[in-house]
Amino acid sequence: MLADLKRAGLKLTPQRIALVREIADDASHPTAQGLYERLQPQFPTMSFATVYNTLDALARCGLTGALHLGGAVRFDPNTEPHHHAICDACGTVVDIPAPPAAIPVVEGFVVRAEERTYRGLCGRCTEVTQEGETRHG
Ligand SMILES: [Zn+2]
Ligand SMILES: [Zn+2]
Repeated sequence: MLADLKRAGLKLTPQRIALVREIADDASHPTAQGLYERLQPQFPTMSFATVYNTLDALARCGLTGALHLGGAVRFDPNTEPHHHAICDACGTVVDIPAPPAAIPVVEGFVVRAEERTYRGLCGRCTEVTQEGETRHG
């Protein structure tokens, strides 16, 4: 990923390297804000704009996915085609491996990817909900 970043014309500053490392092994689909807060203790002088611009550049080169979910953009190191399940209660995003799909032909448009979003409750929130119902009844 770092070599790709260099090829994309971005200077590899210590902050950027740390940011790429942070996102490369984070499957939780963090937001720019979340990554910024995590790197703050290590790089107190780094601005939010640096974080955002680097993530934006990564997404533009196709090195990370960028999901637009409920206003916030969430970044995704998994660049294989896949779908997402989102928990309505806590916002957890889970990857669902997707078999290569037959991409439909849309006239006057080049379809590059297919993304599906499934909404529901994650395992943890399901448990909490059930406990609540048990207590209630
Ligand atoms: Zn949940
Ligand atoms: Zn994903």
